[in-house]
Amino acid sequence: MLITPHVLTAAALAKHSSSFTKNVLIIFFIGLLSHYALDAVPHWDVIVGRREYLQTGIFYGSNTYLQVVLDFALVALILGFLIKRKRFSPELVKLVLIGALGGVTPDLLDVVPFWNDLTGQIPILAEQQTVHEHAHVKASFQNQLPSHTGVWTQIAVCILAVLALL
Ligand SMILES: [Zn+2]
Repeated sequence: MLITPHVLTAAALAKHSSSFTKNVLIIFFIGLLSHYALDAVPHWDVIVGRREYLQTGIFYGSNTYLQVVLDFALVALILGFLIKRKRFSPELVKLVLIGALGGVTPDLLDVVPFWNDLTGQIPILAEQQTVHEHAHVKASFQNQLPSHTGVWTQIAVCILAVLALL
């Protein structure tokens, strides 16, 4: 999935988990697990420049970098707005950001072209990469669905996560 649904979901889980634990490792781990669960849902990873991606199979065009920048900016705006509007305490902000980091960690490790080859060679990170790949929805399944499904699932996840953060 895109960064926005991953971060919002992990942030929402962190907010609600904080009522029974303030343990940052547990909060991080819950965010991490949410990443695999969301990747199992049909979705598009490439929105901007999708046609070029389908034609060439090249993931890391300039359009992809633009998408990542916009994606990070969007989620920073939404999360920043919610934190300010709902007056999260400093401790809750810390937990929400740690959860959010957990929620995006698999993609930070495996999808960033500057180091993803390297992380695949480090034992525990290589195991993580295997889990990440296995959890991800299979293209053979997703391609049987109408192509817009990949957008709607992510919009639905974002709406639910924002509602949970309110
Ligand atoms: Zn992922």
